[in-house]
Amino acid sequence: MNDIRYEYRSGIGTDIHRLMPGLPLKLGGIEVPFERGLLAHSDGDVVLHALMDAILGAAGMGDIGMMYPDTDPKWKGADSRALLLGVLEKVKKERWEVVNTDMTVQADMPKLGSLKGQMKRSIAGLLDIDFASVNVKAKTNEGLDAVGQGLAIAATALVLLRRRIKGLRAEI
Ligand code: MG
Repeated sequence: MNDIRYEYRSGIGTDIHRLMPGLPLKLGGIEVPFERGLLAHSDGDVVLHALMDAILGAAGMGDIGMMYPDTDPKWKGADSRALLLGVLEKVKKERWEVVNTDMTVQADMPKLGSLKGQMKRSIAGLLDIDFASVNVKAKTNEGLDAVGQGLAIAATALVLLRRRIKGLRAEI
């Protein structure tokens, strides 16, 4: 009899950063060709930042601001892929694993539709889960607000975590 039981937790994360000339644009762990990039203490990858907050949120472990304070020079210019691996290491210590993630990137500039597959592959690789367990949606804000005016890029991530419940006896 299959006596494996899991507990599940969902978490949500959001982020927004300002687009500035002369910076590389990193989204979902890939470099996007564009003449502006996102201003932040780290490399400004809003997609991975939203994802990290969703993972930490699901695990009940706070947020990335607590884990990687932007007052700490250690994280200046940090590669968000490395920050994400640190988050995964932290939640894995509590036996959590990522089941799936669904993400939305909001950008009026540049257009991201053709890069969704590349972002999915990158994120699936970082999370070490199936390509099919990662979904990336790209939307525009229809010319409204800072994102709509091409001044910023925002992202939202939802994550489901699971871990095996220890010590359960087989039910008969
Ligand atoms: Mg951020």
